[in-house]
Amino acid sequence: MRESKSIWMNGELVKWSEAKIHVLTHAFHYATAVFEGIRCFSTEEGPAVFRLPEHINRFFDSMTIYMMEAPYSYDEICKAVKETVAANELKECYIRPIAYYSYGEMGLNPLPNKVRLAIAAWEWPTYLGDTAERQGLKCIVSSWRRIHTSSLPPQAKATANYANSALAKIEALKGGYDEAIMLNMESMVSEGTAENIFRIKDGILSTPPATSGVLRGITRDTIITAAQDLGIEFRRNEISREELYTSDELFLTGTAAGVSPIREVDGRKIGKSPGEWPISSRLRDTYVNMVHGRISKYRSWLDYL
Ligand code: PMP
Repeated sequence: MRESKSIWMNGELVKWSEAKIHVLTHAFHYATAVFEGIRCFSTEEGPAVFRLPEHINRFFDSMTIYMMEAPYSYDEICKAVKETVAANELKECYIRPIAYYSYGEMGLNPLPNKVRLAIAAWEWPTYLGDTAERQGLKCIVSSWRRIHTSSLPPQAKATANYANSALAKIEALKGGYDEAIMLNMESMVSEGTAENIFRIKDGILSTPPATSGVLRGITRDTIITAAQDLGIEFRRNEISREELYTSDELFLTGTAAGVSPIREVDGRKIGKSPGEWPISSRLRDTYVNMVHGRISKYRSWLDYL
């Protein structure tokens, strides 16, 4: 990873190399941490954080689910996010706030441990790989099912959820694929390992509803808004595995991944003319213009440093 200078930890900026936790930190053993993934983009008016309130609200929701008492207020966290980017003199970056049950008591009960908070920011231009993102992703439907809401709530962006994602990701990469698509326990499509999924068929855009076990992605919401504004018909509906294969276009969305077209699923080429994704490209271009502040209508989604 591209190291930056400093990391915000529990109220102060510390040197990147000194941002450490104790090996017996509760969250390290029992995955009792929640986090966010945010991006800052360059714009004509300088660096701007995209949809910061939505991310911090989701961060608070995740903390609520895990009964974490937030050690800082909403305003303090928003300010700390901007401070971290500014202190590292980053024009474009990925931002990772994390709240975790810290060191104190071992054993499963996290509650006796203080909640600590850190915010890191670093340059991370492409998440799924430059070539894969440009040429379209080669995906596999994972043999690992997405966590069910009855065992781990997918709406909390908790580190625990990502052990499930990591198993799917390893399987995909070892098999020569770029990314895994996970089905839920009902065998319907849920999401990628860190992305939501969209399908286009006969000009209609669709994505699985939250009840399919997906994280309510902020990029997902952004794309739904863009589609509605562009007059693209949109439906939130369940998607089956075979509907993936028969899609005209498919793409993944996420703060890290952006809007990334899929060129193949389980060896089936996607679309009538593979390599052409007209609606996905329109939405992707709109997204890129939005985040860089080039569309005045969406500038209220930008928090300038
Ligand atoms: N699903 C999962 C499991 C994720 O980790 C992410 C990334 N946060 C997403 C979807 C996309 O969410 P967002 O667009 O808010 O980054």
